[in-house]
Amino acid sequence: MKALQFLGDGRHTVADLDPPTIEEDEVLLAARSVGICHSDIDLLHGRYIIPFSFPVIPGHEWAAEVVATGRKVTRFAPGDRVVGECVIGQEHFGFSISGAAAELFVAKEGWLHALPDELSWTQGALVEPFSCGYYATVRADNLDASDTAVVLGAGPIGLGVVAAAAARGVRVVVAEPDAGRAALARTLGAEATIDPTDPEVGQALDELTGGRRADVVFEASGKPAAMATALDLAGFRARLVYIGIDVGGSAPAALGQIQSKELQVRGIIGSPGVWPQTLRFLARTGVDLSPLVTSTYPLESASEAIEAVLTDRTQVKVHVTSSATP
Ligand SMILES: [Zn+2]
Repeated sequence: MKALQFLGDGRHTVADLDPPTIEEDEVLLAARSVGICHSDIDLLHGRYIIPFSFPVIPGHEWAAEVVATGRKVTRFAPGDRVVGECVIGQEHFGFSISGAAAELFVAKEGWLHALPDELSWTQGALVEPFSCGYYATVRADNLDASDTAVVLGAGPIGLGVVAAAAARGVRVVVAEPDAGRAALARTLGAEATIDPTDPEVGQALDELTGGRRADVVFEASGKPAAMATALDLAGFRARLVYIGIDVGGSAPAALGQIQSKELQVRGIIGSPGVWPQTLRFLARTGVDLSPLVTSTYPLESASEAIEAVLTDRTQVKVHVTSSATP
């Protein structure tokens, strides 16, 4: 079977490997759609937050079809459409455990969720990144149509926040310097866009909010300067949710605003425990993140997909698809 492999030193290939076998509590899956993530590129270059070893098959954003089940598997049967969580105890699927960028791969039954009929394979492979954005809106405490939210950063996670907040009736303003990504944010429900690198960005938000600024600020860029700007864009008693990742950077920030504006500041990691809720939300609201997918490659050409992510800055989310049946 074909599988995308990372070999170390930034090298990658589509290899011909023996198909995997399953234990009694495991499920054999045929990949249908797999997203390439920024963290996959970190993995390619040997940088990751937990130990792993090359060669590794990446792929933690995926939708797949059940091919076979072990003797103790009760919830799934061949033909079922599923998605799966990637943080499994101390291990990460698609990083320290072989991932989904292969014609066939293995997962434990407990990691899997049924993909609702309303969602396509493409939408299924977007559940993992969307779950992070959705979780940010859950942690923003009583987010509703009375709120104006500013989302800093319109990458895949920020765009998920935009779609989730808009579906909750929130008025969403996106702070994003890239015109293409700002346009995508409007497609997904943002009402207005502002440029966070403009020194007058606060006044721009004042014009949109009658001087009130944001009730909620989501920081999804992971850029220290934007993390500081989040405090400036917050209104009185605003809730701030930091989801963008930065390790070790710094920027000057007017921290006194936390006290003077009575701000509630919260950081979150990933999307722990909210997958069933995320899937119900997507099925019920019809939120469709598929406009994020800017290119799709067949699995045989997965190396080209990686190169597209590495070299083309206009790509937002690149997907790899397979229709292989064993
Ligand atoms: Zn990811």
